[in-house]
Amino acid sequence: MTKRVFFFGGGKAEGDPARRDVLGGKGAGLAEMTGLGLPVPPGFTIAAEVSTAFAHTQRVPDDVRREVEVALGRLEETAGARLGDPAAPLLVSVRSGARASMPGMMDTILNLGMNDAVAAGLAARTRDRRFAFDAYRRFIAMHATVALGVDREPFDQAIEQARARTAAALGVDRSRLNAEELRRRVPDSAIEAGELERLTATYKEIVRRKSGREFPDDPREQLWQAIEAVFRSWNNHRAIVYRRMHEIPDDWGTACNVQAMVFGNLDERSASGVAFTRDPSTGDRHLYGEWLPNAQGEDVVAGTRTPLPIRSAAAAKGASDDSLQARMPEAYRELERVATTLERHFRDMQDLEFTIQSGNLFMLQCRSAKRTAHAAVRVAVAMVNEGLITRDEAILRVDPGSVDQLLHPTLDPRAPKRLLARGLPASPGAACGYIVFDADEAEKRSQHGKPVILVRIETSPEDIHGVKAARGILTARGGMTSHAAVVARGMGKPCVAGASALAVNYQAQSVTVTVYDDSGRPAETVTLKKGDVITLDGGTGGIYAGEVPTVSAALSGEFGELVAWADGLRSLKVRANADTPIDARTARAFGAEGVGLCRTEHMFFDEKRIEAMREMILADDTAGRQAALDKLLPFQRTDFVGIFREMSGLPVTIRLLDPPLHEFLPTEARQLEQLSKIMGVPLERIAQRTKELHEFNPMLGHRGCRLAITYPEIYAMQSRAIFEAAIELQKEGVDVHAEIMIPLAISRAELERTRAIVEAAAKDVFERSGASAAYTFGTMIELPRAALLAGELAQVAEFFSFGTNDLTQATMGLSRDDAGKFLPVYVQTGILPKDPFVSIDRPGVGALVELGAERGRRERANLKVGVCGEHGGDPDSIRFFHDVGLDYVSCSPFRVPAARLAAAQAVLLARGRAVDKKRD
Ligand code: ADP
Ligand code: MG
Ligand code: MG
Repeated sequence: MTKRVFFFGGGKAEGDPARRDVLGGKGAGLAEMTGLGLPVPPGFTIAAEVSTAFAHTQRVPDDVRREVEVALGRLEETAGARLGDPAAPLLVSVRSGARASMPGMMDTILNLGMNDAVAAGLAARTRDRRFAFDAYRRFIAMHATVALGVDREPFDQAIEQARARTAAALGVDRSRLNAEELRRRVPDSAIEAGELERLTATYKEIVRRKSGREFPDDPREQLWQAIEAVFRSWNNHRAIVYRRMHEIPDDWGTACNVQAMVFGNLDERSASGVAFTRDPSTGDRHLYGEWLPNAQGEDVVAGTRTPLPIRSAAAAKGASDDSLQARMPEAYRELERVATTLERHFRDMQDLEFTIQSGNLFMLQCRSAKRTAHAAVRVAVAMVNEGLITRDEAILRVDPGSVDQLLHPTLDPRAPKRLLARGLPASPGAACGYIVFDADEAEKRSQHGKPVILVRIETSPEDIHGVKAARGILTARGGMTSHAAVVARGMGKPCVAGASALAVNYQAQSVTVTVYDDSGRPAETVTLKKGDVITLDGGTGGIYAGEVPTVSAALSGEFGELVAWADGLRSLKVRANADTPIDARTARAFGAEGVGLCRTEHMFFDEKRIEAMREMILADDTAGRQAALDKLLPFQRTDFVGIFREMSGLPVTIRLLDPPLHEFLPTEARQLEQLSKIMGVPLERIAQRTKELHEFNPMLGHRGCRLAITYPEIYAMQSRAIFEAAIELQKEGVDVHAEIMIPLAISRAELERTRAIVEAAAKDVFERSGASAAYTFGTMIELPRAALLAGELAQVAEFFSFGTNDLTQATMGLSRDDAGKFLPVYVQTGILPKDPFVSIDRPGVGALVELGAERGRRERANLKVGVCGEHGGDPDSIRFFHDVGLDYVSCSPFRVPAARLAAAQAVLLARGRAVDKKRD
């Protein structure tokens, strides 16, 4: 029989901590810490597979139940206490814990094992009646909401009534205090024992009323209810949403941890907290986190009490130093020791949960810490310098999908801005959008293409879909480790948390801010409504009225260093898609090794040029077209001069005109009239021509090189512009490497004809100028036939560039513009593993890429093969392109550094696979 319950305690842990699939992340961490001799309360972990079994049968198998009983016996022995024994009661927590961390997504119950007799016993034993009944009332509320499905609300109301009575007893005048202020004046810890005892009775009454059941007094019954609730929570709504977002398989299931309680709410020398071994937003090397004296862990994360900083330096200026470091220096030093031990052991930054019971530190959780992309890069580089990890490991540590945010814009320091308030800089980046106050609304509006900022008093796991939809998150309450902060950082989304100057009113759908002047006096109050625009700076915590302009960042510091290490490893080159000199310059600054795709049509949409373009389109004959093209030539040449100059010494792939001509014609009647006037062409003639150009399916219509087959003079003009630009620049000493690329070819004949056009233009320009310029001729592969006939095409083409956007559309018969209606369902229900426009469809489109490259190279050994299109910037696709041996990928300028990193990871991952194969 396979073992399914694993005990930990007394310095030893059963079960292999490397088996996160069995123990779950939390269970594995507890086992690991126990094995390292760290102070961990004893307990046991029920394997994740039991939750999967439970999901099918809704019951825990009998043999597992027996194993649990045995483990419970051991736990009682180790703890010297027994479940339900009033003389020496054992209280436990029942905690979920999946293989991948899903913070707050599933449920935890604390203080289990309580009933009236146990509470009385505990009160006698600890000589602290208040503590015993505080633990008891917390347990009833948690167990009722998590395991018995009772709403949280009536329990909250009951405790607020108890608070009101306490306020009256203390003589606090409530009339001028709002709920928040009252909670501050009369905290939970002020509510005395008798009141709490009454509260337990009230709570049980609530359970009776709301669920029609008695609250279970039998600790064994409580335990099984709690274990089953943990298993059930794997399939609650928010857990399912979270799994979809993070691509966590549904069948992993969650492990369940049962652990002896330690009490952070025992006395004033007790506390609970969370800590990172380094700063999760900057990566700085010191403890970072929050704590609350005399509290249980739920108080810290729930955002109901504003937690205090762990480290002295982080304590607010001027205010008294309420840090853990100042208040409990012993425990703080112990925590630092634990942090060092764990970082050395895991060789990574950790996120810790701890409780201090009467001065003694206990560790309750450790896991690899979520961090901003900025911190991820800095920690990886720092750990190489500290000798903890190798450069290769550092490269693998950073998710290339997250780093482009480092290069994304921040607020323009020179732009005028109106600061409304400041909160905590919980997740960096600038975000601007319309205010919304609830998650559903955020989702709805963003689906309509509106950027939104989700403004909440605090977020809860139920808001996750709204957080995902919003551009940025703003909360009035909660700290750096609050739900909103953690989730936003995980998503790389700007977040300002705990902005206490904000009074959020959900009913009125408004938020009121008291704005202070420079001398700190309240100057005015501003009320913002749903739909008003604000800007957040998640890096500084600033909240600004209206839209604030942004500036782009540079590739420097540790990120530059890491990417330079990556360059030493990768074989895949990285180019950028750039249509303008500015794009080309940005791309080069980010390390692009050339332009992989320069689209020429964008050059014709400019106001001055579109007229000539339209003239060309409306011309009746070749002579008319030529006259119009002659006007376009100088513009086109200027564009190429700019781009070639920026890319001196590097290749520039220029795609000749691709879109169908009607895209250049106006559509509105007013514009048509204007055009007719300007060009002196009768309106009917224009209407007629527009009708002629109309196509039912333009994507498969008269476009790409098909245009040049019927109107060769277009490509002739473009080629001429390229060569003239090249010759002009060569005189200045600029090193030009032009690569002329023909779009949408499906046959050798098309390439032969277009090549002839290009060569004729070259010959003419070279003869006239008495100079020449080297160039290569190639084609895009963007239709399945082109991939299949790649061998023939390579007889004419010297390079291929896979246009994977169109190739995906054509191969899968999916229109990118229309797929939005059903493609998400395909992905959600697993018909397709991923959106094929984001990450390459390996078995279909990918196979064509592989086959096309192979057939092409068989014909021409030195054929250069690259990819342009969205996939060139997608880390997962980049891995694939490396594996099938392409020469380069081309992506948007901002994604170049990420692509460099991903290309290096591809080398390391391929090596890893080779090693695994040898082992087998
Ligand atoms: P989550 O997965 O949401 O983080 P946890 O299972 O870690 O939930 O529980 C949340 C908090 O409850 C912990 O951070 C800790 O403070 C508290 N807690 C859990 N188990 C115990 C225990 N055995 N003793 C004291 N506190 C506990
Ligand atoms: Mg949990
Ligand atoms: Mg936890």
